[in-house]
Amino acid sequence: MSCIFCKIVKKEIPSDVVYEDEEILGFKDVNPEAPVHLLFVPKKHIEWTDKLSEKDLFFLAKLLSIAKKVAIEKNIFKACKFIFNVGNTGDILHIHLHLLGGWKEKIPRHNI
Ligand SMILES: [Zn+2]
Repeated sequence: MSCIFCKIVKKEIPSDVVYEDEEILGFKDVNPEAPVHLLFVPKKHIEWTDKLSEKDLFFLAKLLSIAKKVAIEKNIFKACKFIFNVGNTGDILHIHLHLLGGWKEKIPRHNI
């Protein structure tokens, strides 16, 4: 498998980790589109399909829960974005949640 996020999870590719537990890894986006731009991924390779299992849906809820916690810790929770890119968006298929925030002035409406 040549999934870049699986390689990051396995530490085959280095990343700047901001959160880690048995199921989830959070790390800094290497091409940030905001002052704070973090990615949260399930350690298990899951792709968006119309048949996500109950267990996979649990991971999505956990991604949001952890991203919210980290946003509060980083003091960006009052103005931040949680973004899932789904399907053929030219993005990586391994499910991941973007957390963007930390803008000092105008918050972009659509930047990703
Ligand atoms: Zn993967």
